Order: sequence, then structure tokens, then C-alpha cells
Amino acid sequence: MDCSDNFKTKFLVNKIAVENNIKCVIAGIKDFYGQIITINPKVSACYQCVFSSMETPPNIGPLPVIGVTPGILGTLEALEVIKTTLGLPNLENKLLMVNLIDLRFNIIDIVKNEDCICSL
Ligand SMILES: [Zn+2]
Repeated sequence: MDCSDNFKTKFLVNKIAVENNIKCVIAGIKDFYGQIITINPKVSACYQCVFSSMETPPNIGPLPVIGVTPGILGTLEALEVIKTTLGLPNLENKLLMVNLIDLRFNIIDIVKNEDCICSL
């Protein structure tokens, strides 16, 4: 379960999970927004499949956060870990996108990238 506050750590957690065949849930937040993805190595798309083209500026500081956002996303992430552990429907091959301004929760389907580290 990744709860880190930077892209570099998220990509590292994803890589270690994929290389060691460990299921993993990764969440990210910024001000009023959040995203959650569940990785089942060799089965589902991974974090890098979705965010590989994202370039992070080298000197980017901490992203702004509204205090309730990590609470809500952290609770949803814990729920996702429980569901994944119990074999219940989860966010494999899906990306949950949370908009706390409009109180909208959207799930988009994601596809495993055949050129990604998870497909090697
Ligand atoms: Zn991948």
C-alpha cells in the first residue's frame, strides 16, 4: 500500500511490486483531487502503464493538499486493500478518480501497456 507524497516513490513502489509479484494499491492526491489504482502484477495494468508519460519537474515541492483529502482517499485506499485481500471486486485495470469539489467519483478502464515493465 503506497501512501507516499511523491511520484518517484510511487514509481519505485510499483516497480518493486511488479518485480516481486506483490499486489499493490497506490493512491495520489492534490488539493481536492485523488486517484487510486490497484496493481496485480502479471494480470493488470500497473502504475507505470498509466502514468509513464508523466514528467515530474525536478524541483517540484510538495503538492498542495486540503486536510480532508488524504483522510478520504486514505480510507478508500484501506477499503481497497481489504477488498483485494478478500478477493472482492477491486480497482484492477481501473483508475478511481475522486473530485471532492464536485463530489464526483469516476472509474475509468485502463489497459496494460505491452511495452511496460509489467509486461516483460
Ligand atoms: Zn505496467
